[in-house]
Amino acid sequence: MLIGADGLESDDNFGPAERVLREAFAAAEERDEDISVRQALEVSTGWQRADAELRRRVDYLVNSSLEHEYGSPARLLSSWYGFEDEEFNGEDVLFPNGFDQIVSHLAQGLNVRFSADVVQVAPGFVRLSDGSQVSADQIICTLPLGVLQSGRVQFAEPLAQSRRKAIEGIGMGLLNKCLLRFERTEWPDDVDWIGWLGPRSGFWAEWVSLARTLKAPVLMGFNAADQATEVEKMNDRDTVAAAHDALRGMFGSNFPAPLSSQITRWGQERHTLGSYSFNAVGMGPHLRRELGGSDWEGQLWFAGEATSTQYFGTAHGAMLSGIEVAQSVI
Ligand SMILES: Cc1cc2nc3c(=O)[nH]c(=O)nc-3n(C[C@H](O)[C@H](O)[C@H](O)COP(=O)(O)OP(=O)(O)OC[C@H]3O[C@@H](n4cnc5c(N)ncnc54)[C@H](O)[C@@H]3O)c2cc1C
Repeated sequence: MLIGADGLESDDNFGPAERVLREAFAAAEERDEDISVRQALEVSTGWQRADAELRRRVDYLVNSSLEHEYGSPARLLSSWYGFEDEEFNGEDVLFPNGFDQIVSHLAQGLNVRFSADVVQVAPGFVRLSDGSQVSADQIICTLPLGVLQSGRVQFAEPLAQSRRKAIEGIGMGLLNKCLLRFERTEWPDDVDWIGWLGPRSGFWAEWVSLARTLKAPVLMGFNAADQATEVEKMNDRDTVAAAHDALRGMFGSNFPAPLSSQITRWGQERHTLGSYSFNAVGMGPHLRRELGGSDWEGQLWFAGEATSTQYFGTAHGAMLSGIEVAQSVI
């Protein structure tokens, strides 16, 4: 097990695994064509020479630092563009009273209609599932990429071909959380992140403890990419049992069962159909630019995290893209 305040920490030695990964990406850079992170790894000399233990560590790094970050399976993530997003300086921040404080603040004074399920977008109006229409001179569409890909919202006029290609080509990733509340904190209370190299690669490998920041006996277990898809198929009881098994593997067989739980399944939530977008193998950054911007001679605009070339997959990427489009519309 690896425990760290800011993710991976070295009570285990990950230097050789990091080197295998770095060299694999450097070799992939030299190729004529983009390949996936998984392919880049498997064709690399370092991987081919590595023994089973070193490979296990490389897999752990790929899962914890790439699959969790981008929600994408390594077999689909571009080795050229997969991690070319940018970050702001400064520490990570946890919001003790919830992330929705930001949205609530931004929504002040705006007319926001909840439970208004759009089924069709047309020039000059959107149609809701109850049959009513909302008129608009211009429409800014921030439907998640997963929803755009599913076709469950119909566009009355064809979208630009480049935009349709972008919708198909950008990847939609998956990251889920399982929050577990305990009677008391039965794990180290001076760390935020806990990593675990368990028996099944990538399952329940990353945890956040809320003991330090919220003073609450709560652990948050993450699953990403293919592992998240698999865990999503389990019901609540089995999911909690699997999480509890993992915790017993990490902290010993007497680790108590949680009192309550909260589980996300973003891949099955019909208003998201995934968590956030990633740069899939073979796609260049131009696809995000082609998704953003306007269609239908300026009547329809697209924004949202998937349109951000710099900050895709983030709340600030979504917000900045919205500001940019709003300024263009005005
Ligand atoms: C588990 C997880 C952890 C994350 N962690 C972070 C993090 O630490 N930091 C960070 O910056 N970002 C994080 N993100 C990403 C961030 O939440 C997203 O990038 C951001 O919310 C995207 O904003 P958006 O406006 O583009 O799309 P969304 O937030 O998905 O908003 C789209 C809206 O469209 C609505 N909608 C969908 N279909 C319809 C319809 N038919 N009719 C009407 N409305 C519809 C949805 O209900 C939703 O409200 C995380 C995401 C997940 C899932």
